[in-house]
Amino acid sequence: EKIRLSTYKNKKCLTKDGREIKIFGNVGSREEALLVKENGGFGIGLLRTELIYMNSDHFPTEEEQFKYYSEIVKIIPNEVIIRTLDIGGDKMLPYYKFPEEMNPFLGLRAIRFCLQNKEIFKTQLRAILRSSAFGKVKIMLPMVSNLEEILESKKLIEECKSELKQEAIDFDENIEVGIMIEIPAAAISSDILAKEVDFFSIGTNDLIQYSCAVDRMNKNVSYLYEPYHPSILRLIKMTVESAKKNHIEVGVCGETAGDPDYAMILTGMGIDELSMSAAMIPIVKDRIAQYSMEELSKIKDTLMQQKDAKSAYQALIGGKNVN
Ligand code: PEP
Ligand code: MG
Repeated sequence: EKIRLSTYKNKKCLTKDGREIKIFGNVGSREEALLVKENGGFGIGLLRTELIYMNSDHFPTEEEQFKYYSEIVKIIPNEVIIRTLDIGGDKMLPYYKFPEEMNPFLGLRAIRFCLQNKEIFKTQLRAILRSSAFGKVKIMLPMVSNLEEILESKKLIEECKSELKQEAIDFDENIEVGIMIEIPAAAISSDILAKEVDFFSIGTNDLIQYSCAVDRMNKNVSYLYEPYHPSILRLIKMTVESAKKNHIEVGVCGETAGDPDYAMILTGMGIDELSMSAAMIPIVKDRIAQYSMEELSKIKDTLMQQKDAKSAYQALIGGKNVN
């Protein structure tokens, strides 16, 4: 089995009828980027940058970040989506005192923190821009909930670009800027947001947490954390439709992308890219290769008609066996 899966290493991910799905890796370090390459991932769909902040005893400098990002870009220059700092919630920094909040997951985190701490944000944006001199880098904003956050971030990116230009420092002037769709408000208004960004990446971990109002770490209510809940399927469908209408790419970088069963549904919905932990890459490629788009779309349609998560999952198992 291992040998069979290893044949996918240098192969693209194609459905039986030849539609290509980009199978990328989620990484937090240089070592993980090497693993993605080793397992046949042709890009990085999510570089979680918070690790470099959490493993430091100070806000990492532009040079420190530049070195870290560009090393990873050099490993997989084909495409690297770098997510800007997603801190707060449960992710704290030893050298920074966050405000005390009743609900940190609904509080000052990710893009909200960055827009309130513009110097910290710009330091990171400059480092990311500089790393784009070594390969195809894209910038991704986490936890976006409205249009204003996108416009403000884009303004800061433009500021950083003109600074770098003045300093005669190399970067990709056409760098793409995208957002994570992981807050229900963003999914529901994705038709509006799509007009201002170059791509979407759906973060199902948080999208499920916020849609079902279930703490993703809380064992007491984990039975309510349901990827197959009709609301989640609908939110993903809505997001994909908004992306298609506006001719932008849409990927998924939550855990569901690396689940071969769920990856079938996402592919059936029309997702362009799936990003997952390195180990799952050959397994998902293998699964997708067994089905045509028509088959996957049919299975997806059946799932979307179900009344709850349990019946949707059963419909999936049934659909799988028909083939
Ligand atoms: C997500 O929310 O699905 C996601 C990919 O981001 P993280 O798990 O880092 O919150
Ligand atoms: Mg998230």
